[in-house]
Amino acid sequence: MADISVGLNCPACGGAVSVVEGESTLLCPYCSSTLFIEGDQGVTTMAFKNRVNRESALKASRLWWSRGWKARDLKRVGRTTEVYPIYLPFWRAMTRVAGWICGYEIRRHTDSKGRVHEQKVPKEVMILNDYRFSEIATDPGDLGIRSLRNFAGETSFADFDMIPTFEATTSKDDALARARSDAQSRARSSAKVSRVTMERLHVLTRRLSMVYYPIWVVRYTYRDRMYMTTVDGVTGQVLSGRAPGDPLFQSLAITAGTSVGGLAAALGIIMSGIAAELMIVGLLAGGVILYITYRFFRHGSEIVEGEFKHKPASVSQTIKELQSAARTLQEAYR
Ligand SMILES: [Zn+2]
Repeated sequence: MADISVGLNCPACGGAVSVVEGESTLLCPYCSSTLFIEGDQGVTTMAFKNRVNRESALKASRLWWSRGWKARDLKRVGRTTEVYPIYLPFWRAMTRVAGWICGYEIRRHTDSKGRVHEQKVPKEVMILNDYRFSEIATDPGDLGIRSLRNFAGETSFADFDMIPTFEATTSKDDALARARSDAQSRARSSAKVSRVTMERLHVLTRRLSMVYYPIWVVRYTYRDRMYMTTVDGVTGQVLSGRAPGDPLFQSLAITAGTSVGGLAAALGIIMSGIAAELMIVGLLAGGVILYITYRFFRHGSEIVEGEFKHKPASVSQTIKELQSAARTLQEAYR
């Protein structure tokens, strides 16, 4: 029987592959990945070969324990309870966005007489971008993994007999819809047009594929509480984790936050001799800093890395909040 091309793409390199009817496995002609065709779903499927053993998963996990603001005695007190590999399914799509985004920007400038002028600067941006999308195709539970970061490695289904494999449970159409909207919003933000007046975007999603990825789960306890780390079974890197924070770092940060907040308030009062508004600004700034310090540490001392659904405030998030609070204060002062 002749080759029939059914518009399938290699999940590893995106290349178009054709399938001989009745065959369920093939080798990608571009990157030599072993692919599997799932008949009923009509998607190309591949699996990355697990390259990490128990010892190196543990080692990566212990190295992660010693980094950052985690409890300093974690390496000594932490007890590993379970170490095991799993295969997780991910949807993968390559999406091309082509089109135009038109709009304008407003530029303000002050002339020599102190008058403010507003100028509309028109913008027209052509878009032709390819985006890579991945999304977990099952409920990851508490693993803190939602997308794939690595797409390179040896492919094989040989480990499927040894490593428990999670079934794909989410719908292909939902994944496709999210891949499209993800590509669209990324294209939009890449155009950097602040006020959009017209948009013509064509989103072409090349056929979806399925990637099975090996991940090691390391569960451990620290002072009777349960924590975990996940390690990438291809690269050996830590993907996500929860760990106890360090009480000393925590109290230092609270002290710093409190003193900066107090200082801002005090400065406001001192400066109030110059202008009454400054006192209010100082007091407000002090209050905001105190509040954010409280918010950051309210959840106690857990350090979280990865894509968790419910995540305590992170350092970068706290900085973002501080910045937006500063902007609000600036506006109020004007
Ligand atoms: Zn390929």
